Amino acid sequence: MNKTNPEIPYKILLSEAELPTQWYNVRADMKNKPAPLLHPETHKPMTFDELRNVFCDELTKQELDDTNPYIDIPDEIRSFYRMYRPAPLVRAYFLEKALGTPARIYYKFEGNNTSGSHKLNSAIAQAYYAKKQGLKGVATETGAGQWGTALSMACAYFDLICQVFMVKVSYEQKPFRREVMRTFGASVTPSPSDKTAVGRRILADHPGTGGSLGCAISEAVEAAMGQEGFRYVLGSVLNQVLLHQSIIGLETKIGLEKYGEKADVVIGCAGGGSNLGGLISPFMGEKLRGEADYRFIAVEPASCPSLTRGVYAYDYCDTGMVCPLSKMYTLGSSFMPSANHSGGLRYHGMNSVLSQLYADGLMEATSVEQTKVFEAAQFFARCEGTLPAPESAHAIRAAIDEAVRCRETGKAETIVFGLTGTGYFDMFAYQKFNDNAMTDYIPTDADLAGSLAKLPKIG
Ligand SMILES: *Cc1c(COP(=O)(O)O)cnc(C)c1O
Repeated sequence: MNKTNPEIPYKILLSEAELPTQWYNVRADMKNKPAPLLHPETHKPMTFDELRNVFCDELTKQELDDTNPYIDIPDEIRSFYRMYRPAPLVRAYFLEKALGTPARIYYKFEGNNTSGSHKLNSAIAQAYYAKKQGLKGVATETGAGQWGTALSMACAYFDLICQVFMVKVSYEQKPFRREVMRTFGASVTPSPSDKTAVGRRILADHPGTGGSLGCAISEAVEAAMGQEGFRYVLGSVLNQVLLHQSIIGLETKIGLEKYGEKADVVIGCAGGGSNLGGLISPFMGEKLRGEADYRFIAVEPASCPSLTRGVYAYDYCDTGMVCPLSKMYTLGSSFMPSANHSGGLRYHGMNSVLSQLYADGLMEATSVEQTKVFEAAQFFARCEGTLPAPESAHAIRAAIDEAVRCRETGKAETIVFGLTGTGYFDMFAYQKFNDNAMTDYIPTDADLAGSLAKLPKIG
């Protein structure tokens, strides 16, 4: 155990007074800035005036801000955070013991709120800025349902209309998620739907499709743009979301410092990149400024491997190609992950900040198969008593693998990972795993070549 603090508790809890007062914007410390968003038709960088038709003004500012390292968290948001934050940083003593590893393992648990994930950290910020601008409501998409739930909670708090387009397979598989959203006052539409032109087009092209995040994004954008006083909001991928999620990393850093710990490896699952980006941001800032060194590991599903098998190029963020183009690691916006994959993280691209950091060799990435992910989830649940979200279990898988490496090399490293949420609404997937009916899907090179061939030609 640590010399300076022999008694590291199971849960490192910060007081409410220690809750950060500012978010940290890692872009300010990056030498190579992420590439700008481009207009989908002109291919010119999106201006503030163009983006503010889609996002509310303050969020547009944050989206474009590559220079200010710290951004004040408004009091209204901070007081909402105090209902469920600071989030615990847990020392995984039982997991360490079960693995027989000399490594010290910590996880930052973001599942302590009704939405069951970190998504609420950004939902409340986005709802706040929309309200402050005097808007009537917001439209969004949700895949597994955590984001839609988080946003419906935030909109109920600020009395905003909340319209959610939910990926159809998920809408059908997770009826209780839908009811949570409706309880908080949101309207929920399965996507693709016939409510939007783009939805009707996708339905005509792919009859019977279960939908995808990319389709639902296109529908939500169209719905938001078509209604007076509405804006579109997104729960991942964007730089503004990564900024709000920096609260995770900032708290983690304070918690570790309190106990004289220094992380060697920081691990997060990566869908669109927001929890990972938020968790690593303050640590990455130190690395970028030359103050400390860390290893960072992004963990993605083998069935949707944007960092490990995608290309770094401009691509559409949505299937309908109505959103701005982002330079990112992508599998192509027409890539449809297999319906067989139930572990979340099914987005074709990756946040542009993380993409640039990865391209610059400042972060590692690995991909894991879903049966391995659920083995880790089950092992973790039995050791630590928390039922993890399948998404989070990708990070658990990598943390266990790192801890086993430490056992084999005799290195007592400090491993920190993000436990982004709980898995109570994912029991279909757990059931499949428990019944030994879960299989792995790994796209072939030919599968990927098909969607990559459709990347837009830029410049
Ligand atoms: C949405 C979600 C993720 C993935 O999204 P990121 O933007 O990559 O963080 C991971 N875990 C949980 C529990 C989620 O709800």
